[in-house]
Amino acid sequence: MSLRARLTLWFTAVLAIAMILFGALVYALLNGELHADVDASVENKAHDAALSVRYENQQFFVPTRVRVPESQFRAPTLYTEIRDIHGDVVWRSDTLQGSDLPASAATLASAKAGTPVIETVFQAGQAVRLYTAPILVNGRVVGYVQVGRNLADIDAALKQLRLWLVVSIVIALAAAGGGGWLLAHAALRPIDQIIQAARAIGQAQRLDRRLPTPPVADEIGHLAATFNEMLDRLEAAFVAQQRFVADASHELRTPLTTIQGNVEFLLRNPDMPAAERIEALNDVADEASRMARLVNGLLALARADAGRHLERRPVELRSIIENCFHHAQALARPRTITVELALNRLEPGARVMADPDRLGELFTILLDNAVKYNRPNGLVRLTARTEGRIHRISVSDTGRGIAPEDLPHVFERFYRSPHARSEDGTGLGLAIARWIASEHNARITVESVPDVGSTFTVTLPALEPAPLLPVS
Ligand code: ADP
Repeated sequence: MSLRARLTLWFTAVLAIAMILFGALVYALLNGELHADVDASVENKAHDAALSVRYENQQFFVPTRVRVPESQFRAPTLYTEIRDIHGDVVWRSDTLQGSDLPASAATLASAKAGTPVIETVFQAGQAVRLYTAPILVNGRVVGYVQVGRNLADIDAALKQLRLWLVVSIVIALAAAGGGGWLLAHAALRPIDQIIQAARAIGQAQRLDRRLPTPPVADEIGHLAATFNEMLDRLEAAFVAQQRFVADASHELRTPLTTIQGNVEFLLRNPDMPAAERIEALNDVADEASRMARLVNGLLALARADAGRHLERRPVELRSIIENCFHHAQALARPRTITVELALNRLEPGARVMADPDRLGELFTILLDNAVKYNRPNGLVRLTARTEGRIHRISVSDTGRGIAPEDLPHVFERFYRSPHARSEDGTGLGLAIARWIASEHNARITVESVPDVGSTFTVTLPALEPAPLLPVS
């Protein structure tokens, strides 16, 4: 069932229950009130008559007050009757037109015992409210007075009320149902539009399109705005993905072309001198290893994009840094670059929650760059120090630095500043470094002064040092 139909149904059902309860309450109150009025009127009249009837010498004298024929206007349906102690009628009002009010033995017995009886009886097919009370003379019951009230007018009025209530409830419900349907239709129309627009965007695969946002900032407006925000993010991710694939294929094409060219050259010239052949093969080997680095980097980033997380455990920081330092020294030696290590301000036994291989890779990326982009005879300094609850590891160099306009981009995938292109690289190193840092809840920052040098700093949350084992 559609939301529109459900809303209308609920709305009408709630209204129906409310109206039926209200109608029933009005009817019950009016019914009670009218019947209470009738009971009071017959009782009053009977008491009045019982007090005014005179009884002398076994005879009843009915005074004019009781006798006065009931006016058609005042009480058209009031009947009065006087019975003697045996229950025989001795006087009846004209309104009875010669017939008698019913008087059962039980009613008379109860009245004789001093308890007046009020009951509903049927007189000539019509309901009559009948009150039977004893007539007392000197405390002795000498007869009975009966006053009846025809209920026909009340029943007719109540019947009319019932009819009105039913008709008005049915009309109100029909109007509410129709109105509710139109209202739900109007309220849900913008949702229909959003569905159409979203479907069109999905079918046309046009992530640059946006949903129309209604002018009022209601729930539907929020829905459209939220959907548009989601489209913004989807589009950004999609564009980034496309760029990534394009950049990756571009980067892979260069080494592939070189390899292909060299291999074809070797095949075409089987008799080439050994020295040239070795040079061509060296080229192939270099490009193959560059491709391998690129593919490894791409794989790492693809895994990161897929939401893969590193498995971390408590590890000692010093040994990781020292390993990276030795690696950097080996790399720097041919370039006559000095690598220095300063760990004196690192807390002894400093530990971090880390994937040791990946954390080492992060430091190695920074050290590789510091060596790669350094000047001949330059200096690379690897420093680690503990500051309260954090460890700060810095890699600084005396290289050519990074231009201010390049600085915001160096962590982007495939970004290489123009002067870096002379060096071997993939442009993925710092992107991978940033991902590894974020997996370690660490921050990585860079400061650089052109022609003076750069400093990359990793801020790692510290882990409590390992407790000393008791000496047994
Ligand atoms: P790659 O080194 O493979 O080019 P990276 O992602 O490691 O890629 O670095 C991105 C760019 O940042 C480099 O191309 C270079 O322009 C710049 N860069 C990184 N480290 C340094 C550094 N220590 N000194 C100068 N420039 C740097």
